[in-house]
Amino acid sequence: MTSTLDSYTPHSGTPGVRIEHYDLHLDYKILPNRLAGQAMLRGWMLEDARTIELDLIGLAVSRVLVNGRRHRFKQTRTKLVIKAIDRFVVDEKLALTIHYSGTPGPAMGTWGDVGWEELTDGVLVAGQPTGAATWFPCNDHPSSKATFRVTVLVDSEYTVISNGELVGTRRRAGRTAWTWESAEPLATYLATVQIGQYRRGAIESGSHAPSRVAMALACSETLWDRAQQALAVQHAMMAVFERRFGPYPFGHYGIVVTDDVLEIPLESQPLSILGRNHLSRTWNSERLVAHEMAHQWFGNALTPATWSDIWLNEGFACYAEWIWSEDSGQKPAQRHAREQHARLAGQPQDLVLADPGAADMFDDRVYKRGALTLHALRLHLGDEDFFGILRRWTDQHRGANVTTAAFLALAEQVCGRPVEPLIHDWLYAKPLPPLPVQW
Ligand SMILES: [Zn+2]
Repeated sequence: MTSTLDSYTPHSGTPGVRIEHYDLHLDYKILPNRLAGQAMLRGWMLEDARTIELDLIGLAVSRVLVNGRRHRFKQTRTKLVIKAIDRFVVDEKLALTIHYSGTPGPAMGTWGDVGWEELTDGVLVAGQPTGAATWFPCNDHPSSKATFRVTVLVDSEYTVISNGELVGTRRRAGRTAWTWESAEPLATYLATVQIGQYRRGAIESGSHAPSRVAMALACSETLWDRAQQALAVQHAMMAVFERRFGPYPFGHYGIVVTDDVLEIPLESQPLSILGRNHLSRTWNSERLVAHEMAHQWFGNALTPATWSDIWLNEGFACYAEWIWSEDSGQKPAQRHAREQHARLAGQPQDLVLADPGAADMFDDRVYKRGALTLHALRLHLGDEDFFGILRRWTDQHRGANVTTAAFLALAEQVCGRPVEPLIHDWLYAKPLPPLPVQW
């Protein structure tokens, strides 16, 4: 099993096995940054093989059980290789139990530090694109979405936020175990643990009409009031995005604000992580808050099948910033589009939006050109068909993986005419096409 799953991340993910559920039990000591874990993975074999390869970085495995039997294994820098007693056979059901421990830390690579990261007082996980393996053994690729149950035992003054719903806390001897469960499948890069001395509570709507979607906040007592003031606007954003993109795909929406300054906010499922610096009342902070919320539809509920389609995340989330701007009575999308088009026209035109290459997958040009592509489509089709496409898109593919081809096919279905020629050059040619004339 040495073939690659994705040419953008050739060292992550494995095509031979499908993992459908992760049940993680973690014991974490903050000050020494010491993690002891027991990971229970459920899945099945996709091919006959003598080994199962999982991703795991910087942590030492002490014991592996496959279907209750102890198995031999070895570790490389990024892989846990489990050896079959005889062989693993296609369709064989797998229940893997992996005991591991160590001092977790981020993995350095093409996209900077990713994964488990210590804060001044706590932890954050920034998993995109290949950081999940820094804290649990996994098949780390967005095409391998799975359900999760995560239990983390920490000192009782700390709060743990993870994916899905909080299903219980158990306190003993000054330590508390927090259990979170995500019944909605999520990509491994969205799996998260956020630890801090956080207060938890609802986000108030302030002067906005309260959203039908429950919104939760976790941050330090010091930041609480500022965060409430800065985030009340999310109630209005949620209403705009539900109208434009279709129903919010998860049970609730959560925000974690770290005491530390963060270079960029992070998306997780169903939450976003902001730094204290993202609470300022500026358009730049507001657009990032909108951007992260939009990822719940584009990226999280609908996840690209391969990293080459990253524009399906970032182009859509960037366009959501402009939608929010327009629908909240600020600058119209058309003006954002004209300004960004002029900016991109002065930059190198050497990447293909629908396949930008691994090194450029988080390049700002992917974000802005992706948004411009959607705006161009909107100008060609008009609002009714354009937003009809977005709502059908999120409805039909919720919880699944998506591709550019699937988007074009669905757009054609909604409009009853070919759509690909309208945005072909935006997606597949390097030179920046002109913006279509406004309808
Ligand atoms: Zn983004």
